Amino acid sequence: MGDTTEAPRLGTLIIGNCQAGVQLASTLRELGDTDPITLVGEEPHAPYQRPPLSKAFLKGEATADSLAFRTHDFYREHSIELVPRERIFRIIRNADGGVATAESGRTFAFARLALTTGAVPRTIPFEGSELEGVSYLRTATEATVLEQQLREARNVVVVGGGFIGLEVAAGARSAGKNVTVLEAAPRLVGRAVSEQTSEFYLQAHRRRGIRVVLNAQVVRFVGEHDRVTGVELGSRDDEGPGEIVAADVVLIGVGVAPRTELAVQLGLEVENGIVVDSRALASDGLTVAAGDCANMPNPSIGDFGAGRIRLESVQNAVEQAKVAAATLLGLPAEHRTVPWFWSDQADLKLQIAGLSGGHDRVVLRGDPDTEKFSVLYYRDGRLIAADCINSPLDFMAVKNALHKGLSVAADVVSDTTVPLKKLFAAVEAADAGRAAPSPVPVVLPAVPVPIPAGSPAA
Ligand SMILES: Cc1cc2nc3c(=O)[nH]c(=O)nc-3n(C[C@H](O)[C@H](O)[C@H](O)COP(=O)(O)OP(=O)(O)OC[C@H]3O[C@@H](n4cnc5c(N)ncnc54)[C@H](O)[C@@H]3O)c2cc1C
Repeated sequence: MGDTTEAPRLGTLIIGNCQAGVQLASTLRELGDTDPITLVGEEPHAPYQRPPLSKAFLKGEATADSLAFRTHDFYREHSIELVPRERIFRIIRNADGGVATAESGRTFAFARLALTTGAVPRTIPFEGSELEGVSYLRTATEATVLEQQLREARNVVVVGGGFIGLEVAAGARSAGKNVTVLEAAPRLVGRAVSEQTSEFYLQAHRRRGIRVVLNAQVVRFVGEHDRVTGVELGSRDDEGPGEIVAADVVLIGVGVAPRTELAVQLGLEVENGIVVDSRALASDGLTVAAGDCANMPNPSIGDFGAGRIRLESVQNAVEQAKVAAATLLGLPAEHRTVPWFWSDQADLKLQIAGLSGGHDRVVLRGDPDTEKFSVLYYRDGRLIAADCINSPLDFMAVKNALHKGLSVAADVVSDTTVPLKKLFAAVEAADAGRAAPSPVPVVLPAVPVPIPAGSPAA
């Protein structure tokens, strides 16, 4: 009698068990995949949400457990094998599958492979970076240390005026700390928002008592007994040494770099992330990648940036992971959603809809002094994005409009007496050749839509 023992059925190996990895696994099951799914990650925790790490977590209002996406029962019930504390360092693959090896020596055979490896904070190799009290913030482990340090600190310095740095700065200030933000560029959050939004945040944080230094040149971190005590700045007038800003805690938040080491090893195309097509497929035509590690075409940016972009947001990770799951199962799917993002800084809620890259016009809607306003971005006469500060209705209206491909003329959106939703509804009605639901002053879209003769709007 021959050997009737069957080889174990191979399934999907997902490397990286956070936002994108968990979504990918869940979507595979939702789409009816019954093959094994293994979700491997190097962190010790069950997969958890990162955004609260710079918000509720630092106030002591959350833990890695309370931020978990799913219960252990969920993974068990869906036959998703969760493997924490394993860092994959080598993958060997061919067209039929392959084997990934962890640093512990454990191996994971797979038929299908997904990379959801995310990103790591960019580091600054300054003298004193190793001092206790100098930290980065990406993981729950780092957030736990930072939370303890912040509790005991009087003077907090944040290097980098991006979203995460400003969120931490705002939280520390609300807790009564002396907070200084050191930004190397001439404005805050310069990579992501317009000058108007940057200027608003500069003034808003200064009003709340945060010292913000723009064009700051960090020279080194200084300390005593291995603990940080200050941050030395470059001399502004080339006369004598620069200022030393007192610090018990320094958070460095100067952006992240995509984790592409496994992709490089696999010979995949990598350029500011793992280069994938709109189905999340990497250059080998076999491996999928999603989330912060992936550089994907995005219809929202048009030709700007060669039509592709790497984004760092929850919504992006979720949407790309859904597409990647479908692609692994051979189902048609394409990434076409409108990007959106949020940032909570003290009582200021920023919501961004769309991508503003390549904009050639900016329109202010509302008064920044009220801390409730929006900035709308146009390119070639069409609305492409909006930053909405404490203006959730504007955000929802723009997000829905962009989703439907609607635009509205730049010269009417600054009138806050007319809800944006109403303007878009009028455009949509005109577009469909129907009458507008209710009269609105000026309803012409930025790019003229054909209005059939006889229509009341014509
Ligand atoms: C403090 C903070 C605040 C944020 N706030 C917001 C916000 O307000 N709004 C928003 O939209 N987004 C926010 N983000 C961004 C958002 O969290 C990320 O975009 C999202 O987590 C990306 O998910 P991901 O799965 O692609 O990557 P990640 O979350 O980075 O997960 C990747 C995982 O893969 C693991 N991994 C990588 N390589 C290996 C390997 N070789 N072996 C094993 N495991 C590996 C990593 O350890 C990590 O756990 C924030 C991020 C941080 C850090």
